[in-house]
Parts: sequence; structure tokens; C-alpha cells
Amino acid sequence: MLDQTPSKLSERSALVVNPAKTCQPVGAMYAALGIHNCLPHSHGSQGCCSYHRMHLTRHFRDPIMASTSSFTEGACVFGGKPNLTKGLTNIFEIYDPDVVAINTTCLSETIGDDISDIIRSAKIPEGKVVIHANTPSYVGSHVTGFSNMVKAMVAYLAEDTEVKNSTINIIPGYVEPSDMKEMKRIMRLLDAPYIMFPDTSDVVNAPMTGKYEMYPKGGTKVEEIRKSGSSKATIAMGSFASKDGGYELESKCNIPCHVIKVPMGVKATDDFIMKVLEITGGSVPYELEMERGQLVDLMVDVHNHYHNKRVAIFGDPDIVIAMTELVLSLGMKPVHILTGTPGKDFDKTVEETLQTYGETAEHVKSKGDLMELHQWIKESPVDMIIGNTYGKYIARAEDIPLVRVGWPILDRVGHSYFPLVGYMGAIRMIEKISTAFLDLRDKTCSDEDFELVL
Ligand code: SF4
Repeated sequence: MLDQTPSKLSERSALVVNPAKTCQPVGAMYAALGIHNCLPHSHGSQGCCSYHRMHLTRHFRDPIMASTSSFTEGACVFGGKPNLTKGLTNIFEIYDPDVVAINTTCLSETIGDDISDIIRSAKIPEGKVVIHANTPSYVGSHVTGFSNMVKAMVAYLAEDTEVKNSTINIIPGYVEPSDMKEMKRIMRLLDAPYIMFPDTSDVVNAPMTGKYEMYPKGGTKVEEIRKSGSSKATIAMGSFASKDGGYELESKCNIPCHVIKVPMGVKATDDFIMKVLEITGGSVPYELEMERGQLVDLMVDVHNHYHNKRVAIFGDPDIVIAMTELVLSLGMKPVHILTGTPGKDFDKTVEETLQTYGETAEHVKSKGDLMELHQWIKESPVDMIIGNTYGKYIARAEDIPLVRVGWPILDRVGHSYFPLVGYMGAIRMIEKISTAFLDLRDKTCSDEDFELVL
């Protein structure tokens, strides 16, 4: 497996091998699915749209709906205005969404279609909404696309009001629907009224009822996103995916934005809860105290499974930052830390987190790829990899356990139903890490060391 990967690292400036990211529009498509009754629309050639739908479907194992402007060569030369105008008419006539959220591909960005102008001149039925985000795929990654679409939701929909109410806006970041559901549960336990957007829970993990629903019951209603302009504060989870939307709300509607880490692990969950309480003035409910205590209990009970183990972490920046802190709190040693998404903030935040725990990593890199990660691991081996499905090739080549976290996970199930955020999510993460180590031990240890109780 991966036999051609040289063990000696050489600097590459132009060639990317096995990228640790994908392009903007798929992130924008995922964000758009978090609006109720919304059809994401891809303005470009149809290949991009089918690829992005397929990738999301493979991760969530649910139908992912989106339409496309279906560019042909003529549109590439003369512009895609007729395609989008006709497309919008067809979409509202045939598929009847409440909202169409347009993203762009590298093709429409390169020819420079003016989407705002096309929307203004299109015939949009009464009561229906069309929003758009420019998502050039040669800038950033799918996380940037998610962030751009969230910002577009605010730019198009949030309404500024003089009088603010007690609601807190939650921008959950590029996380699983199960994570969004868990964040909402925590907000309810804290007795804090909230508006979460986007919210893909009950959309991309909708139940089988025997009847196909093109627009499942989940998703944030347009009305709620409009009202987000009247909230008291915004909490943006993960700076890469959420801060732009939060700051857009701050400048458009004068709502203070608090950017925090995605609440994975005991420290980040504490920070989330304390931030909410700082805004509401409430106190920690017994149920959350209990869950925190159970997490700490488990951390102590099984620390021998993972203490001092060396780990490589890769994936989307907000998730990798959160995972680095989580494994540090377990006493593990994150030695190779990589994201494919560009951004100097990543290196800075990871380094600061390591320093807090008195640790240093051998490599911390944004805009890296998985061939480089593999070469680091060859040079300086690890006990575990934490990352998405693409890590399985390195895991197999080097005989290391892979704990699947992040997006996409194409070869395991259940991740869209069980959270990794909050105290319960951290408990699940410990279970995944411990089980991976213990399974490896059971498989590889000698008969004399094969223990019933571990
Ligand atoms: S990189 Fe460009 S052409 Fe390729 S899928 Fe993304 S948007 Fe489409």
C-alpha cells in the first residue's frame, strides 16, 4: 500500500498528492442544506454538482438534493446568465423550494458571472427567496465555501432591529448533524433561547418513513435567520467555518460575536458553556455537571490506554484544532498535525494550544497534503492517526489504527447520529480511541499476554 511514497521528504512547491481538502462549493452546498426547504444550486457545469452531491451522499448515506446551471461550451464563452435565469424558473416550477442557495464553481468564477445581477433580473415567485455565495474553488477549501455560504445567509436574510431580544445565535461550524443536535440540547439545558444556523440535523440524517421527502423537516427556517439580526449575541464555533458569518452579523446588525473553538473535549465544552452563561447570567444545570463528571471519571479510569501515545491528526482546521486540545487533555502526544485548508491562524492556534499543555509537535502545517503526512509518519512513527477516511491508506501501509473523525467518512456508519461535541461527545471520542488501541492489542499480542480484562 502506498509503496511509491518515498520515506525521504523533499520539498514540493507545485505538486499536491492526496490532498487533505476539497473545493469550496461542496461546503456551500452542505451549509445550504441547513436551511429549511432549501435547494442548493451549483452555478457551473453539472459535473461539479454531481460530484458534490455524491460526496455528501456517500458520507451521510442520505439523498442530497441540488440543482445545476449545466453550463455548456457556449455558456463558458458568453456567460451563464441564460442558464441561471431559466434554471431558476424551472426550479420553482418543478421542485418548489422556499429558498434557492446558489454557489459558484471555478468555471463561473473564472468567466466572472455577476450572480447578484442575474438574481435581480430573474423572475422569482412571490414569497420565495434566492441567495448566493461566490465560492471560487481555487481559493481556500470546502470549509471556506461553508463559511461563505453562512456569510451569505446573514448578508441576504438577517434583519437589523433596534431592539434586541435574549436569543443567542449559534453558528455551529462544519460539523455533523448529530453535533448540531447536541449543541441545541446543551443550549436547552442551559435554558438559553437560541437560533442555530445552518442546522442540517433531520435533513442529511432524515428518517426512513416509506415516503420520500425532497425537503426533510429539519433546517433553519428563513424567518429564524431573519430574526438572527435581533439576537443579543452570536457564538461562532470554529474560526475557519463560522467567524465570517458571525462578524457579518456584528457589522450588519450590531450583534457582538464571540468566536470559540468547536466544543470537542472537556476544555472547549467548558468554554462553550461558560460563554453562554456569561451572556445569559445563568448557572450550570445539574445534568451538565453530571455529564462532565462522568467524562472526567472515564478520563481517569482508562488513561493508561492512551497516556503518552503519539498521534497524527489531520482534516479540517477547526476540527483538527479541537482534536489537538482533546488528545492533549488525555495525555496523548500530537506530533504531526496537518490541514489541507490554507490559513496561518491554524499554525498559530495549534502552537498556542500545545504550549498551554507544555508540549511541542514535530510538524504543524496548514495547506499540507497526505503524502507529506505519510512521509512524516515514516520518518517519525506514531501510535494512532485521527482523521477522515482518506487516512486509511496510510493506516494500512504503516499498520497503525485510524480513528475516523471529520469529513468525509465514507467507509463507516453511524457518525451522523452520534455527536463528538459536548461532554457526551468527548466520552464517545475516548471510547473510540481506547477501543482502537485495545483491538490492536488483542490482535497482535502473544497468547500469554492475551487478557480477559483490559
Ligand atoms: S475544483 Fe472546480 S471543476 Fe473541480 S469540482 Fe470543484 S468547482 Fe468543479
